[in-house]
Amino acid sequence: MSDTTSPFGGLAIDFGAGDAAPLAAVPLAPITDGPHETSVLILGSGPAGLTAAIYAARAGLAPIVLAGYQPGGQLTITTDVENYPGFPDGIQGPELMLRFRQQAERFGTRIFDVEADRVDFSSRPFRAWAGGVEYRGQAVIVATGASALWLGLPSEERLRGHGVSACATCDGFFFRDKEVAVVGGGDTALEEALYLTRFASKVHLLHRRQEFRASKIMQARAESHPLVEIHRGVTVDEVLGEESVTGVRLRDVATGATTDLPVEGFFLAIGHRPNTAPFEEWLARDEKGYLVVEHETYSRVEGVFIAGDVHDHRYRQAITAAGDGCRAAIDAERWLEENGVVEAVTATAR
Ligand code: NAP
Repeated sequence: MSDTTSPFGGLAIDFGAGDAAPLAAVPLAPITDGPHETSVLILGSGPAGLTAAIYAARAGLAPIVLAGYQPGGQLTITTDVENYPGFPDGIQGPELMLRFRQQAERFGTRIFDVEADRVDFSSRPFRAWAGGVEYRGQAVIVATGASALWLGLPSEERLRGHGVSACATCDGFFFRDKEVAVVGGGDTALEEALYLTRFASKVHLLHRRQEFRASKIMQARAESHPLVEIHRGVTVDEVLGEESVTGVRLRDVATGATTDLPVEGFFLAIGHRPNTAPFEEWLARDEKGYLVVEHETYSRVEGVFIAGDVHDHRYRQAITAAGDGCRAAIDAERWLEENGVVEAVTATAR
């Protein structure tokens, strides 16, 4: 029976399945002979990367995680998470990711808070560099996620988390009976605007052009919704407010005239960019720039696996990313076994 002591404020969580044999802390086939070498090198520390780490670590593969500039990923910039199963009262995004991390570390994952800026997938062991330090893995799981795009206004950055959000699904709940604005003209913007009508007294949809990029059906829904007011041909000059959002300053693209629109919430929905820069030479990308999974979680480079939002622009949920991380770890582990890099170690570790 594994240790049930909780690092999480008294919660008694049995992380080890009660029927499992004691977990191996190191790989059975010791291919790791340096502090920066491992069977499984995981790039990224959101739900996908850390779930992959939990599975790889419990399989005795002593993974290394390069956590990136934003350890914990996108959830660390959200507040309440109410749709992650297992937390009936919700949980704060940063706390959820801390728990993922502690769970991964508990089984022997080594986590470095550095960002991989270059990789070489030409031969095994695969190599990644972060700030000039080299890390090596017999297999690699790429789980670097995607980043929401922002307008780049200083006022937007200053008020992030104080009325400015890039996730209506995460934060809409906090704007009950308040007026909010959503910027963007794609499916995400319209979807988020419609979602926000559940809470807000009015949703202003701000789009820089006259024509929407979004699907016709979403446009029709937004246009006919009594709580959605569409402002076409406007850009946002500034987010107003000192401590929290009090409005946005709009500029009419045609005339250049500015007007202040009073709102208490400002939602960005202008797209996401997958974090693929170090991999562009090695891994295929689709027309939207996301990494291409060949089958299951396999990339086109044998031994390099892909998980989470870096390839998924459809679901983009913590739970789907976590599931993907699990799949990638199992694929990596089997691939290492099939290639004789590690012995089959997992039958008792799951
Ligand atoms: P998107 O389709 O790329 O749309 C981004 C929108 O943001 C565009 O309207 C763009 O304006 C606007 N924009 C970009 N930069 C801006 C800036 N600096 N200032 C003001 N506006 C800016 O992104 P998305 O809506 O996130 O959708 C991504 C993909 O996911 C799409 O293929 C979409 O169809 C899909 N998706 C599907 C669903 C669904 O099926 N339920 C839901 C969500 C997303 P312009 O139009 O002027 O370029």
